[in-house]
Amino acid sequence: MKYEKPTINRIDFQMSSKYGSPLKTQKIRTNIDGVKVNELVKEFGSPLFVFSQRTMEEKYNKLHNAFSSRYPNIKFGWSYKTNYLNEICNIFHRMGSCAEVVSEFEYEKARALGVEGKDIIYNGPYKSKESLRIAVKEGAKIHIDHLFEINDLEDIADELGVKIPVAIRVNMDTGIYPQWSRFGFNYESQEAYEAAKRIKDGGKLYMTGLHSHIGTFMLDANAYRLETIKLMQLKNKIEQELGFDIEYIDIGGGFASKNRLKGIYQSPEVVVPTVDDYAEAITGAIYEMQQNKKLPTLYLETGRHLIDEAGFLLTSVWGYKRFPDGKKGYILDAGVNLLYTAAWYNFNIELDSRYDGINEPSTLNGPLCMNIDVIEENIMLPALNRGSVLTISPVGAYNYTQSMQFIRYRPAVVLIDNNSNAHLIREGDDLSAVNYKEKKIKS
Ligand SMILES: *Cc1c(COP(=O)(O)O)cnc(C)c1O
Repeated sequence: MKYEKPTINRIDFQMSSKYGSPLKTQKIRTNIDGVKVNELVKEFGSPLFVFSQRTMEEKYNKLHNAFSSRYPNIKFGWSYKTNYLNEICNIFHRMGSCAEVVSEFEYEKARALGVEGKDIIYNGPYKSKESLRIAVKEGAKIHIDHLFEINDLEDIADELGVKIPVAIRVNMDTGIYPQWSRFGFNYESQEAYEAAKRIKDGGKLYMTGLHSHIGTFMLDANAYRLETIKLMQLKNKIEQELGFDIEYIDIGGGFASKNRLKGIYQSPEVVVPTVDDYAEAITGAIYEMQQNKKLPTLYLETGRHLIDEAGFLLTSVWGYKRFPDGKKGYILDAGVNLLYTAAWYNFNIELDSRYDGINEPSTLNGPLCMNIDVIEENIMLPALNRGSVLTISPVGAYNYTQSMQFIRYRPAVVLIDNNSNAHLIREGDDLSAVNYKEKKIKS
């Protein structure tokens, strides 16, 4: 392990000022893994996405240990859509994750990164026939979403003269509402079992797996226990009645990160289950339901939990104004174009140094000429200057992949490795990136 310098944080007493509001402790972050945020902005520009390899590896090892210490056959599939920057995927692949993709584009991305077909889980409601043909030839794990896909795969089986191994996606009631019932076949209505029967009757495909993904940011470990019990029940029934050998169950993703969901007032430390809670719920249910000696391989498609806390967005103050209601409004160089998830989460917002003066209620707005461009509606901040750098976290999950080239260019991305070296892993866009593929009308 690398030596880390200890840091001393000043703790302010909660005294009332003459305006009555308490002097809240300023949250300060001068560096990420030992690299100064001000230096990062100077070198790579602002705004800037920054990822910590150290945090990614810590999260991965902790989650992997929680499962592998309880269960012998564990496999992680990195959820591409959560963050498919190449170097992010590469780190998880090097640590042993296969790839979990939900589109033809993500499938191609995994292959381009050198992931073999057999190490790709192909999910999603829209899989073109051509991409299914390739996935079959390359031996990918195909998780069927609906009946049309069964037909498509049967056509491909005829065409190629092979019998194709498949899994089906199952949706179910796990006590989480609204229920995600759009994807796959329903458990309670027997639709999932009927789909398995349909596959058996067709005689061209055979089942090797069962998959479910019950939602994202799941704060209830017991939902996974219910999910696993239902998948195992279905597995036992399919094996007994249809004679398929279900080699694996895939319980999907959805483990929460230490982010603060709007509307949940307790801190993430209180409400987010531990990895041991999740692991105990899932593996305990498999042991309980397993009927023969051969334990299925357990796949996890964890995205958010592994990457969210490893991601930071550095943004600089461009100016401020006083709104008619007296509130201070800061204009930042990053907005909802880069923080799609700002609608759901109250992020940590940290200052690059200590600022003098009392905190006052402030709004953080982005640079877009759009009324909705609000990062934080009400935050107590001291008087910041033009150029003050704020670190927004955790933003590693979904924000980069959902970021938009809307009004402004998308920014650069930096990865800080385990030796505290900062690497540019994606350049910011420029006009050529935006105009790429546009066509001129010939007159
Ligand atoms: C999005 C998704 C995941 C990852 O979900 P997280 O909440 O990021 O862990 C896993 N599996 C499937 C099928 C998905 O669509």
